[in-house]
Amino acid sequence: MGRFETMREILRSSRYFKLVCGAGNENAEEVRRLAVVYTLAGANGFDVSAKPEVVSACGEGIDLAYGYAEHFKVEIPVRPYITVSVGMPGDHHVRKAFIIDDCVSCDLCIPVCPTDAIPASLEIIPELCIGCGNCEAACPPKVAAIRYRHNSTELAELLPKCLEAGAENIELHAAVPGDDAILEEWEVVNASQPDNFISMCLDRHHLSNVQLIDRIRAAFAVAGDRTIIQADGVPMSGGSDDHNTTLQAVAIADVIQKDLKDKDRAFRDLPILLSGGTNGKTAQMARLCAVPYQGVSIGTHARGIVKGWVAENGFEHDLEAIGRAFGPAADLVSRSIAS
Ligand code: SF4
Ligand code: SF4
Repeated sequence: MGRFETMREILRSSRYFKLVCGAGNENAEEVRRLAVVYTLAGANGFDVSAKPEVVSACGEGIDLAYGYAEHFKVEIPVRPYITVSVGMPGDHHVRKAFIIDDCVSCDLCIPVCPTDAIPASLEIIPELCIGCGNCEAACPPKVAAIRYRHNSTELAELLPKCLEAGAENIELHAAVPGDDAILEEWEVVNASQPDNFISMCLDRHHLSNVQLIDRIRAAFAVAGDRTIIQADGVPMSGGSDDHNTTLQAVAIADVIQKDLKDKDRAFRDLPILLSGGTNGKTAQMARLCAVPYQGVSIGTHARGIVKGWVAENGFEHDLEAIGRAFGPAADLVSRSIAS
């Protein structure tokens, strides 16, 4: 079975666990260490920033884990898949906002910009803009004076280098308003990886339920059965290991299930990953609410429970330290995937 078919089977059986190494985390050393411990713990996916050297470090960590598998009496039946993420806040590869002449100078966009990229002159500073879309959401709909310049060229150059370094999947963070802009980027992602899954990460911060479903339909029309939808509850909020933190991740998956998968047979097998605010309670919460999911993607919480050991110098060669981190990591993975 090829890598795409193998991943599809993992998703079908709801056994996909992806460790998110950190949006914009370019610390290759840390990514290598996380890859060691979470590969041993049973993760079958890693999400890393779109830097070839970070992708390579993740692959090295996976290789090291294979070398330690016998010592820890674990089997690694499938080599974990490496996903590169593009378009998340802080990623400068994708889009930059600018203001057109229709602007009525209401200044509503200025305070919502997280990076102070909009000065009083209302000429957006491209170097500071992270393309988050907050200004577009704040701009009065009748004016709609925010537009984006797309860096598709840079994206198209970067992604093949990441795939060459060992990545197999690409994830586009698309939780911003403006369908045309996102679909342009999705086309680039789709063309860059025609042989395996690509993932669109969506939340409901900017999108109504109807817009969410429309965007999923548009993404599926481009990538077909290679599409994964990552249901992003509240991004980067999963530090607390409680039910409320993970509530939105489960809720958005529920919306997709009821408004799309249950209604349209074409989407019945669309894989949904729970993410954003995910933690050790996510899978339990989904099961309690009878919300189906094909995988769980955990970042802040998963990194937090091994942080003390992973920070130690030489961690990746220290079997004792790896052993201490292994326990909580393996427990989290086994609680998150279907038994
Ligand atoms: S897209 Fe985000 S970062 Fe860029 S100018 Fe608008 S609010 Fe600021
Ligand atoms: S919110 Fe829109 S209309 Fe108001 S200043 Fe910003 S771009 Fe101009």
